[in-house]
Amino acid sequence: MKRRKRKGPRFGPQIDLFPREVAVDHLDPRAVLGARTAVRQLARVRYADETITHMIFADRHGVYCQEHGPQCSAVLSSGLDVKRKQA
Ligand SMILES: [Zn+2]
Repeated sequence: MKRRKRKGPRFGPQIDLFPREVAVDHLDPRAVLGARTAVRQLARVRYADETITHMIFADRHGVYCQEHGPQCSAVLSSGLDVKRKQA
């Protein structure tokens, strides 16, 4: 599915259910944050049209973006789900 670049405001509301091209790296929380971390899952999300990186944390409080909180679209993109039980 190819998308053409559209002219228009760059910073309009982002309400796409299936957002932009995205790269997701799932990381080992203990390797990144230390063995004592309470974070259960960690992911790094980058959108092709952004220069920033979203760090997504999943812990007992929920899933949230380090910069933008639980409302960040990168939370959905990360695929992390704290409710999913780990063996
Ligand atoms: Zn974010």
